[in-house]
Amino acid sequence: MAGRFLVTGGAGFVGSHLVAALRARGDSCVVFDDLSTGHRAAVPADVRLIQADLADAAAVDAAVADGPWDGVFHFAALSLVGDSMRDPCRYLAANVGNGLRLIDACVRHGVRHFVLSSTAALFGEAGAGPIDETAPIAPGSPYGESKWMLERALLWAGRIHGLRSAVLRYFNAAGADPEGRLGEDHRPETHLIPLAIDAALGRRPPLSVFGTDYPTPDGTCIRDYVHVTDLADAHLRALARLEQGSVTYNLGSATGHSVLEVIGAVARVSGREVPWQAASRRPGDPAMLVAASGLIRRETGWAPRLARLDDIVATAWQWRMAHPDGYGAA
Ligand code: UDP
Repeated sequence: MAGRFLVTGGAGFVGSHLVAALRARGDSCVVFDDLSTGHRAAVPADVRLIQADLADAAAVDAAVADGPWDGVFHFAALSLVGDSMRDPCRYLAANVGNGLRLIDACVRHGVRHFVLSSTAALFGEAGAGPIDETAPIAPGSPYGESKWMLERALLWAGRIHGLRSAVLRYFNAAGADPEGRLGEDHRPETHLIPLAIDAALGRRPPLSVFGTDYPTPDGTCIRDYVHVTDLADAHLRALARLEQGSVTYNLGSATGHSVLEVIGAVARVSGREVPWQAASRRPGDPAMLVAASGLIRRETGWAPRLARLDDIVATAWQWRMAHPDGYGAA
């Protein structure tokens, strides 16, 4: 039976891909997004967009009251580690305050299923090797801390009010809709793959590689890049799993790639050189973040379909070729 879902941040990168996945299976959605970083053009014309700020308690309450909802997906958040290191209180106030306002409205209006976009950044400097769900929590940034606070809030909302939650800790969301409808368009762009692509195209100055002296084989940071369509699929599987109770999953591919390896992949896919220069470390960046994704694989049958780095980069490249200015003026 088709469901009906509220998606905060549904105009953003990962949220818009989740909306596409829900619609592909016949569900309907309403997107709640202030378009501060999301794009109107990323929301299909026949999907209702509530353009409002999650800080607006009346707007949040009205949206959640307009149920019934089979689930609420919460993507909308400030999400840059570096910004959070410059402006910790803004990050904590916005992400925690907005998330609590939404969770509280869900409890009051009888929502039973909640899916939270969380992050690998709550593990901080986790050391070498894949990180599973039992690894110690030690956020290396206010951004990571803000997501951890929301994880805790959901734990209590579950224990006290019975709100079931799926907490999905993303590692590095990457790539673009293979059908070419959606892609990555942050303004300003800070993420590695789109910046490397633009450097290859000569649309930006050479890429700054943030730190070449990390304790990794080539000295650059290692991250676990997961295709955004595979992330969307994981949300649907985690949602179904809520029938059995709340879950927390580390959502990565279990494979790490260094910044220099990503640069190599962009060069192979584009057939162009990627100009780059060594730069100092970015505060808050751990040397290595790679997920042990065994739990979500075992419990939901999830497996990334676009697992190879070159395949992930190829979809990002195709999006950039077809949409040189992203979503344009939208
Ligand atoms: N990075 C980099 N230069 C850039 C942007 C990112 O060297 O211009 C590095 C960054 O330090 C990290 C990795 O690329 O190790 C991925 O960064 P991104 O901002 O894409 O995602 P994050 O890991 O912060 O979620």
